[in-house]
Amino acid sequence: MKAKTETADFSRYAKQTSLNAFGIESQESLLRSRVLVVGVGGLGSWVAELLVRAGVGHIRLVDDDSVELSNIHRQAMYTESDAAAHKLKIAAAGQRLREINSGAEVEMVYSRVDRLTAENLMRDVDVVVDGTDNFETRFVLNDCAMKLSKPWVFAGVLGTKAQIMTIIPGKTPCLRCLMDAPPTCDGGQCCCQSGVLGVAVAVAASFEAAEALKVLSGHADRINPYLLVFDLWGNTVKQIDVSEPRADCPCCVHRNFEFLEP
Ligand SMILES: [Zn+2]
Repeated sequence: MKAKTETADFSRYAKQTSLNAFGIESQESLLRSRVLVVGVGGLGSWVAELLVRAGVGHIRLVDDDSVELSNIHRQAMYTESDAAAHKLKIAAAGQRLREINSGAEVEMVYSRVDRLTAENLMRDVDVVVDGTDNFETRFVLNDCAMKLSKPWVFAGVLGTKAQIMTIIPGKTPCLRCLMDAPPTCDGGQCCCQSGVLGVAVAVAASFEAAEALKVLSGHADRINPYLLVFDLWGNTVKQIDVSEPRADCPCCVHRNFEFLEP
């Protein structure tokens, strides 16, 4: 069987490969790459579409939810007919992604991502992208990524605000360097109570996809080393310095993976 880089029609990526910062070699790396997108709701659906359009070789989507009408304002790829049919998100997303780029291998997994499933889902990919909507899952992802030494891109959106950080084991701080435990859902401080601006999700997902593209195309040195925080309605953007891992981090320093334990 011919390698994917030999059979790919590079003309479709001409506007990308002609970028000085990208080029043919980066495109070839991207075509050979494997990415796991955890959750194909607000963040994950945009990220998956952007990565498949850009030419990622293999994408694994994991989700256990179906499409509802109230998803569509912030979730790419889904339509009113998907919602009317209560279609599984992985089925609707898989079909759409194959129509967008038939050269991409799109793998759909109907599953929750938890301490029992995370390792198998993550083991053979190059990058993990956070498309979840809860910190419990993110702490499992963080533990698993540190254990298996996998780069992962974290993002969270709340109301009109979002935060994004790229985590590379051994090089950057991990999620537990920033917070010791998942924040609790109280005082309206979660999206199930406060709502979410659809465009804030799309912008956060675009940052996530850009960070994943850097790593997958061989440019991990270009990742944003800061925690990026923005408020689209308040018109603020902050880059928070998180350059050093926390000296006593139980996860990335002491390698105590509590969120993978029963
Ligand atoms: Zn850490």
